[in-house]
Amino acid sequence: MAIVVQKFGGTSVADAEKIRRAAMRAISAQKAGNQVVVVASARGKQTDQLVTDAIELNPDPPRREMDMLLSTGEQQTVSLMAMAMDAMGYKAISFTGSQIRMVTDAAHTKARIQSIGAERITKKLDDGFIVIVAGFQGMDEDGNITTLGRGGSDTSAVALAAALEAEVCEIYTDVDGIYTTDPRKYPDAVRMDQISYDEMLELASLGAGVMHGRAVEFGKKYNVPIHVRSSMKEMSGTIITHEVPQMEGILVSGATIQKNLAKIGLVGVDNRPGNAARIFSHLAGSQVIVNDIIQTEVSEQKANVSFTIGRDDLDGAKKAIEEIRSQIHCESVFVREDIAEVSVVGVGMRSHYGVADKMFQALAEAKVNIDSITTSEIRISCVVDIDHGEKALTAVCDAFELNKPADERS
Ligand code: ADP
Ligand code: ASP
Ligand code: MG
Repeated sequence: MAIVVQKFGGTSVADAEKIRRAAMRAISAQKAGNQVVVVASARGKQTDQLVTDAIELNPDPPRREMDMLLSTGEQQTVSLMAMAMDAMGYKAISFTGSQIRMVTDAAHTKARIQSIGAERITKKLDDGFIVIVAGFQGMDEDGNITTLGRGGSDTSAVALAAALEAEVCEIYTDVDGIYTTDPRKYPDAVRMDQISYDEMLELASLGAGVMHGRAVEFGKKYNVPIHVRSSMKEMSGTIITHEVPQMEGILVSGATIQKNLAKIGLVGVDNRPGNAARIFSHLAGSQVIVNDIIQTEVSEQKANVSFTIGRDDLDGAKKAIEEIRSQIHCESVFVREDIAEVSVVGVGMRSHYGVADKMFQALAEAKVNIDSITTSEIRISCVVDIDHGEKALTAVCDAFELNKPADERS
């Protein structure tokens, strides 16, 4: 019998009516002959509320305690959903991350999954139950509750789908698929029928909040097709899958804007072997996730190094830099929080030229100054002043015609 994993995000389980609707989706998948595992997020904005509650009592809460608190949101949803299914006459059982042995590392608030014990789930599935698992949470080797980072229920779902060798992982959310860019920020964005794992991975890591990046990594690694679709409409959505040849023909598949960023610049660092390693291994040791790094030689003796990070990591990064500043003989440090990063992504960039040119031209015409530029094989990112972020995104989307389906672009 095929196994289907269905993940419901916060807005899709926000109240009793929505929980019932999600329960019915799972029941119809079971009636269609599948074994069904549901992964649920906390209801509505509950995780945000729990963060606010914590900060009211302690502006810098211990991360272990934060995980104890945040994991409670998902535990409420799964038990309520099991009750809803029971009331409809179906066999359902809920589990926390720890109960299904979702083992992670000990990096509280941004833990990574290491292993999953699928036996308890498969036994219940074989007994005819719908199994409902709390997303976003796991436990470390010592049994402490951990969480996977905001938006992490997607990752719980795809990782479970991989462990159970599920046929598909369906991500039910408040949009009907993956759009060329966030439709809330560019209302003319269009929905894609499919997108490659690599493109989705870049989009997710560049701020497309619709999917958690680690979820896409799991999908790619374990060949799990991910179907992102609406919890309110019946229509099918976007399939995230391996690259197929026609995807190469599309110059730019999507664009993103990331605002929750900070940039740290180290000016006048000694230009000698080992310094970059010293800086970034110290940041890694402090559990700071670094996005883009730019190093430039200014003379034989000195170099400038700058990097971007998520704003949540800013305090940790500043502390780490102060600890090693004297070892690298850094003359001055600057921090910018008033930045946004606008990016375009497309596997077609590998085989087409002129993408960078078109992007810079669009920004110039919109009178947006570019602070710094970084690229990969399939993306180009520009850091701009935060006040120009939305304008820059619109200019770039217009330039690449992201308001039209790929086959109608010039
Ligand atoms: P959930 O609670 O279901 O996990 P999220 O809020 O995490 O939902 O993700 C859905 C939201 O992602 C959408 O409402 C949309 O505003 C946003 N989003 C950002 N980028 C995109 C994109 N490229 N395509 C679709 N939605 C996007
Ligand atoms: N409830 C968590 C959050 O709001 C996890 C998730 O929704 O995926 O970030
Ligand atoms: Mg989400």
